[in-house]
Formats: sequence, structure tokens, C-alpha cells
Amino acid sequence: MRPAIAQIWDWLAEVPDPEIPVISLTDLGIIRDVGWQGNTLVVTVTPTYSGCPATAVINLDIENHLRAKGIDQIRLERRLSPAWTTDWISDAGREKLRAFGIAPPIDGTGADGHVLTRVGALTGSNLVVACPRCQSNDTRRVSQFGSTPCKASWVCNACLEPFDYFKCH
Ligand SMILES: [Zn+2]
Repeated sequence: MRPAIAQIWDWLAEVPDPEIPVISLTDLGIIRDVGWQGNTLVVTVTPTYSGCPATAVINLDIENHLRAKGIDQIRLERRLSPAWTTDWISDAGREKLRAFGIAPPIDGTGADGHVLTRVGALTGSNLVVACPRCQSNDTRRVSQFGSTPCKASWVCNACLEPFDYFKCH
């Protein structure tokens, strides 16, 4: 018996992101497709960026989790185009990031309607990142790399709290 595709999506939603375990792989939006080819389950994954060191771990986590559910024939496929963007992070995922103290990636517009710089322009001088604790836009980057390569360290000038900004793209 092949489990239904909807069931498999539910199972994949239980797999945490190895770098930011508060959100799942489906919250992150990197699982692009799930389908049966005969008795083999094919899971298509788009890495957050092509050199992301977590990719191998993610693939192993997917495989282990689905095997534990009784699926023994699994093929993981990598799809690099279109490239993952932070827009693919679900609303639930953004909420979880904020609750965890990580500024969710900026998706083009801020809550107050201002058009903000995209994540890809992180090295530019115009990036506005709201503090996940007090929502102030008066923040500055202190390091390009945070606790993992996918995060940058920022600090809020208003409440002085340091926080991580999720920058993988
Ligand atoms: Zn703050």
C-alpha cells in the first residue's frame, strides 16, 4: 500500500530544519514536489542555496523520517531552478521564526507598507530588519555570520537585544 501524497506531506511537515529546528522543512518551503513513480517515492528538494552545508543533513533527515513511516523506496531529487527564495517560507514558518527570536526574512513589504530591501541585498546599506522582540527598525548588523552560515548576527539599537537574521537564499 502506497500512502497518499497528502499523508506524506503531513509526515514531511514533522521534519525540523536542522539549522532552525523551530520550523519544519515544509515551513521553509524547500520541498517542492512529492510523487510516486511506481513503488518509489520521489521527493524533490530545492536547497536554500546551492552551497548550503545543511543540504546533506536535510536529505538524510527526510529519508530517515519516511523510512520510519514504512516507506522503503525513496529517491531524493535536487531542483536548483527556480532558486529557493525566502518568499517560499510559509506564514506559519515566519510566525515561528519571530517567536523564536529570529527576524523572518523580508519579503518585499513591511507591516507598515514601506517597501523594504530584499534579502538578496543584505550586503547593501539599505537593508531594514525589524527587531523580532520590539519591532523597531533601528537595528544594525554586527556580523555577517551568526550561529550558522544561514544566519547573520544583528543587534537592536532600541532594546539592545542581539538577534539572528535568517539570510539563506
Ligand atoms: Zn528591539
